[in-house]
Parts: sequence; structure tokens; C-alpha cells
Amino acid sequence: MDTGAIAGIGNTPLIKLRYASELTGCDIYGKAEYANPGGSVKDRPALNIIEDAEKNGYLEPGGLIVEGTAGNTGIGLAVVANAKGYRTLIVMPETQSQEKIDTLRTLGAGLKLVPAAPYSNPNNFQHVARRLAEELASTEKHGAVWANQFDNVANREAHIKTTAREIWEQTEGKVDGFICAAGTGGTVAGVGIGLKSYRRDVVIGLADPMGAALYSYYTTGELKAEGGSISEGIGQSRITDNLEGAPIDTAFQIPDEEALPIAFDLLEKEGLCVGASTGVNVAGAIRLARRMGPGHTIVTIICDSGLRYQSRLFNPDFLRSKALPVPHWLEKRL
Ligand code: PMP
Repeated sequence: MDTGAIAGIGNTPLIKLRYASELTGCDIYGKAEYANPGGSVKDRPALNIIEDAEKNGYLEPGGLIVEGTAGNTGIGLAVVANAKGYRTLIVMPETQSQEKIDTLRTLGAGLKLVPAAPYSNPNNFQHVARRLAEELASTEKHGAVWANQFDNVANREAHIKTTAREIWEQTEGKVDGFICAAGTGGTVAGVGIGLKSYRRDVVIGLADPMGAALYSYYTTGELKAEGGSISEGIGQSRITDNLEGAPIDTAFQIPDEEALPIAFDLLEKEGLCVGASTGVNVAGAIRLARRMGPGHTIVTIICDSGLRYQSRLFNPDFLRSKALPVPHWLEKRL
């Protein structure tokens, strides 16, 4: 039987989103992944990656888990590692929110912040993590492994085994469409593969932020990016092994100007404080609902809590500096 934090991973609520549903005449639901012990959709892959490494004999008791992450996977790995007696070393681009950095320190993870660099640069956080794991494998007393969430398909398998099955059961098989954004692509690919195994004609959509290359890839076959987004944890520029063969039927490009007001409305009108990637996801669900027409059941992911981004997403000065809309209740009146 699972104990400690591991017992709390998965089986998250499926929440009906009233405003998005009323707007479209569809039933739109969000899978409340902030309810996981590490507070995000990444606890499930973190657990499966660690258990896969245990099963394959890569991870010794007391071993070190090294990973490059925008933060949430690191938090998930630290939670699971604490519960199982491992240690973590997290490599993170320094552009990510202070709240995620503070959370990793609180959880006891080792932390290495690196300047943001594209994947093609050898100093990109993913390559730094791989090299560190290789070096530490021989010097650490109990060895070291690289979690490799982008290209380790134990990531998407977690979503095939758990997230997709839960969505199928919670909608009593009524789900017509599923859509979310991609970081590693584990969620969209895993839930997509899982749901299609139950029902072949379920529509799988990708909601892509500006600055990512996947919208272009799934609509024209070419990996091309333009613009940018303040969202964290999403926005991919390559086809990761987790995205390889993902059954994506349709893709939408979602600018922050569309996603953020939706995130702010979720807080103000429904009491749901969510991160920017969830704004992208719900905007995508609304677009997919409009494409499919009224009467359909559409599910997306509430990836994490907005409290993880108070210093940015809910900071009027930061939003103004990016020429983004400011929630009216945060407007400073001089
Ligand atoms: N939203 C947030 C806030 C995330 O941290 C992540 C994970 N990088 C995602 C969405 C995307 O999940 P995935 O890696 O499964 O594509």
C-alpha cells in the first residue's frame, strides 16, 4: 500500500468550468492537478519515472535523481524522492518563478540555476542536467540517475495509466474531446493515447502558447516559432520522444492576451486560482468547443496553482512591464 505523499498522487477531482461551459454550450471540465501533493500535473510522471528506474535497476537505495526542469517536475521528484529515501539535484533556468525556486529549497532539493539557453545550446538546462548526472554517477556513494522527463516515455506512460483512465471514468465515457498545452508533451500524448484506447474518435487537441513551435508543426509540418509567452512549463521547440506519435488531431495557437484574462476570470468568477498554462489550456478548450459545436464534453488540465506565480502572473508591475492585461482588483489606484 502506498504511504506518505505517494498515496496522495492522482485521483484528482474533475471540475466543471461554469463560464467556459456557458460560453460554448459544451460541458467543459478541468482536471484539478494542483491537488497532487507537489501541487502540479508533474507528480504523476515524477512517480512513474522513479518507479521505472527502480524496476530497471538504475536507481540504488539512497541514490541521487538529477533533472532539468522548469520547476514542477523537480518539485514532484523531490516529493517522491523524500517519500522513498532518494535525493534530488534540480537544474532550472533562472527565468522561472521565485516561488518554484523557494518550494524546491523548502523540499530539500539541491538546486542549480542556469542562464536560459535554447535546446541547441550545450548550456541548456536539460544538457547540463544530463552531464551532471553522468559525472555524479561515479562519484556519488549511491550513484546518480538522470530522470530525462522530455525523452523518457515513463513520463507519458503515467498519463496513459492514470490521468486518461481517471478522465474516462469520471466522465463515464462521455468525453468527446481533450486538449492541453505541451512542455515535455507527456500529458497531451499520454492522455491522448489513453483516451483513444477507450474511444478511437475522441478528438485530441494541442493548445500551444506563442513562442512554441508545435502549433506550426501540427498544422504545417514545420517546426517554427514566433512571439513569446509568460507561461512557464510549456512551449516546446522540438518533437520530444514523449510527443513522438502523439495522436494530435488539431492544434490552436493561444496568445497570452487570450489566456491570461481566462485565468483571471477563473479566479474572480469561479474561485480557481490557476497558473498561466491553465489559462492557455482553458482557452484551448473554449476554441475546441467552438470548433466541435454545442453539446460536447471537453476536458482539459488545471496544471498548477496561480499561487506558484504570485510574483508574476498576479503582479501588476510585472504584467504592465510585458504590456499584458492586469486583473482589475490588482490595479493600484494612486
Ligand atoms: N503546465 C505547467 C505549469 C507545467 O509545469 C508543465 C510541465 N512542464 C506543463 C503544463 C506541461 O506538461 P507536460 O510536460 O506533460 O507537457
